[in-house]
Amino acid sequence: MYRITLIPGDGIGPEVVDAARRVLEATGIKFEWDVQEVGEAVIPKYGTPIPDHVIDSIRRNKVALKGPITTPVGYGFRSVNVAIRKALDLYANLRPAKLYPGVRSRYDHVDIVVVRENTEDLYAGVEFEQGTEECKKVIRVIRELSGQPVRDDSGISIKAISVTGSRRIVKWAFEYARRNGRKKVTAVHKANIMKFTDGLFLRVAREVAQEYPDIQFEDRIVDNLSMQLVQRPEEYDVLVLPNLYGDIISDLCAGLIGGLGIAPGANIGDEAAVFEPVHGSAPKYAGLNKSNPTATILSGVLMLRHLGETAAADLVERAVAEVIREGKYVTYDLKPTRDDPTAVGTREMADAIIRAIQEGA
Ligand code: NAD
Repeated sequence: MYRITLIPGDGIGPEVVDAARRVLEATGIKFEWDVQEVGEAVIPKYGTPIPDHVIDSIRRNKVALKGPITTPVGYGFRSVNVAIRKALDLYANLRPAKLYPGVRSRYDHVDIVVVRENTEDLYAGVEFEQGTEECKKVIRVIRELSGQPVRDDSGISIKAISVTGSRRIVKWAFEYARRNGRKKVTAVHKANIMKFTDGLFLRVAREVAQEYPDIQFEDRIVDNLSMQLVQRPEEYDVLVLPNLYGDIISDLCAGLIGGLGIAPGANIGDEAAVFEPVHGSAPKYAGLNKSNPTATILSGVLMLRHLGETAAADLVERAVAEVIREGKYVTYDLKPTRDDPTAVGTREMADAIIRAIQEGA
């Protein structure tokens, strides 16, 4: 019996999370779901979109399955997702991008694992708003220390990349590669331009690579990598990247394998792990039983692997692959055209995956 924090989220979250929960239960493994509500809807009750008891629940259970949560743009609260990652120091963002037969794609073979640093870089939220006293002060200090011109009317976001943060994410990527029979790790950077941040990341990556002689190591500049991923994705295996590049490149990789409906993810730290799809809450599809549950179900597969339930993980993954290959009981995004009348809903696709599990996939 595993006690798991279950966060349905909002928008399409509750539908895709319910589908994943039913699929995971169909494996016969027993789960006790500790259901936790977060986001805009709980603000009237708790005064915050992310009450402390939710973080405590994840800390206690050590594992969570989570749906997407809407972050209002330009007003209101900061991202609940970022808050959870920060509170639990979930420093490794794992985003595998695997092409399953039956998905329409320009490629024959894609099986890339993106390992994104999740706590540092331009995403850490160290920012100074244009026109404020703090921002003017930062600009003065930068001019004085660097001798570089910075315009008075600039806004400032700080990019900090540490030896500690780089070492633990690169080590995590190599350990992942070793555990999962992967052959190569590629470190991604723009060290030719940003010598003191990306340059540091690359230097640390090279050092860590020495400790793993059984795994190949190479590095790529992020713009060159973007082109190569589009031209020859089959040449890549595990990618390790600082936060910003990791975010962008993982969406690019999701595009190579059929889109956000398929792309799973996990945020993993030393104390806890939160499994969630790469996609957001797609508010316009909320409650319509239309969205693809695969990304959340495959996040559940990552969770099973994390729990050491390898046979169940393989079973669910084979069932998902079989339903996608058959192409009958799939949501609109996996059909030849988006208005295909034979597309099924979220629930029906999950039902088909459950049937495949029961048949032993
Ligand atoms: P989104 O991923 O919600 O949607 C973008 C488009 O992708 C959708 O319009 C839809 O066409 C497609 N899509 C997404 N999920 C799909 C699925 N399961 N099946 C089929 N198609 C799917 O991105 P967005 O519109 O930029 O963001 C909406 C909200 O989600 C925002 O508030 C954003 O902050 C939030 N968000 C949350 C998370 C998270 O909780 N981890 C991640 C990303 C975005």
